[in-house]
Amino acid sequence: MTAQVKRVVIAGGGTAGWMTAAAITKLMGKNLDVVLVESDQIGTVGVGEATIPTLHLFHRLLGLKEQDVMAATNATFKLGINFENWRDVGKDYLHSFGFLGKDCWACGFAHFWNKGQKLGIVKPIGDYCTEHLAARNGRFAVLPNQDQNHAYHMDATLYAQFLRKMAESLGLKRIEGKIAQVLQHDNGNIKALALENGEMVEGDLFIDCTGFRALLIEQTLNTGFEDWSHYLPCDSAIAVQTRSVGEPVAYTRSIAHQSGWQWRIPLQTRTGNGLVYCSKFLSDADATELLMSNIEGEPLNQPRVIKFKTGTRRKHWNKNCVAIGLSSGFLEPLESTSIHLIQRSIIRLLQQFPSTGINESDINEFNQQTLLEMDYVRDFIILHYKVTERKDSRFWRHCKNMEIPQSLAHRIELFKDSGKVYKQDSDLFGVSSWVQVMLGQGLTPNSYHPIVDMMEDEELNAFLENIRGNVKRKVDALPAHFDFVKHYCPSK
Ligand code: FAD
Repeated sequence: MTAQVKRVVIAGGGTAGWMTAAAITKLMGKNLDVVLVESDQIGTVGVGEATIPTLHLFHRLLGLKEQDVMAATNATFKLGINFENWRDVGKDYLHSFGFLGKDCWACGFAHFWNKGQKLGIVKPIGDYCTEHLAARNGRFAVLPNQDQNHAYHMDATLYAQFLRKMAESLGLKRIEGKIAQVLQHDNGNIKALALENGEMVEGDLFIDCTGFRALLIEQTLNTGFEDWSHYLPCDSAIAVQTRSVGEPVAYTRSIAHQSGWQWRIPLQTRTGNGLVYCSKFLSDADATELLMSNIEGEPLNQPRVIKFKTGTRRKHWNKNCVAIGLSSGFLEPLESTSIHLIQRSIIRLLQQFPSTGINESDINEFNQQTLLEMDYVRDFIILHYKVTERKDSRFWRHCKNMEIPQSLAHRIELFKDSGKVYKQDSDLFGVSSWVQVMLGQGLTPNSYHPIVDMMEDEELNAFLENIRGNVKRKVDALPAHFDFVKHYCPSK
């Protein structure tokens, strides 16, 4: 066990660093000495603009008002992700953040819908979900008693600045400087960060938020990395921002291409664009050309290539160092999960914050929970690639035939056989998410739960129509998404 944790040093000030700094300072700062070291010379990765609804919890913990965060970050609302050309060229589906229909004690709504489909009496599954229909119809409002499950598209740089202002106002000390060396105690624990200007930053607990460099957790502690690129072969991305043309939609667009996919993230005044691709099948030059020929609006910066390796650090907490953000591993942004995983690690660290000193049991618990959570997210992302009807390129043929984790293979089999989906405790994505993506990618269950046959066909029809009618009435009553944004949280 180490000495009691009094001094916390956060290395790095990207989204991960400033989220960590804001949370620790706000929630435990009174009894801790918290400093953050970052280097303007190095800069941040500068992407990461689509989020998922769990971010509300983080903001609630920090006492932040949605309107303030959104106005400061040029944000729009996000109700889901539209997957275009993923199942096959010309076919698309929306994975919304909403719940599908109504469940019964024995089974989920999709079982009722599946029977309805066999009888030819249903509309597309999204018509039974408010968030889905609202996204498609461009409608949204935050209402006191019937809030829709929503997230944000936001400017990552402005978000980090917003959190920095908050953390500094609460007493966090920011040190500008490049870390030249990481010094260790004899037992391997980290002792201090030696900066290029000669300054020494000592601490009891170090949080590695140095991005892909992983300066502390890997370059110093050699923690090890579990490579998942055999499951997720994309290893490169190009990002470019453009001036907005037209009104922003309330969903992220994910457009599959022959060797990867393109994102389009609409903020209030600009759009984030990028292409994620596999360098084995597409060169950087061809990828740049492909992206630039598929953007709308004037580019606001030069396209930038980012290289990555998909996988996870074998331990996210090693000795007296916790890795948060890109230093802890990477899963491509297909389901916008990175900021969520940052938030989860921060909250987990705060919940498991060492009381007397750092015990091995604290470390083991943290690692076990974090790794399990990442496995589920990984499986969900692989699902989009594996279950496809595309055969038009070497990349898609590779994905269709690649090995997948047993945990995912089981889920796919179960859904195919019986339409059943279960959410496990550490699973970020709920049943409605799995169902929307499995159906959207073209999986059709062979059967449905027998309890559905307790309803006569006419009763089933009335049940489905009732849900669909309610959803439609709710959505029709909403204002246009961007009209609401302009009134609720205009960009500052
Ligand atoms: P960085 O932003 O790289 O920050 C690293 C920090 O460490 C910087 O402040 C730097 O100055 C500092 N640093 C490094 N070395 C030193 C040194 N020697 N001395 C001092 N300081 C140092 N996530 C989502 O949730 N949604 C998305 O839509 C999304 N899209 C993405 C698209 C792409 C292509 C990629 C690659 C990632 C995406 N992510 C997304 C992930 C998201 O961008 C990151 O999780 C998030 O930005 C956190 O990054 P970070 O803070 O860990 O690292």
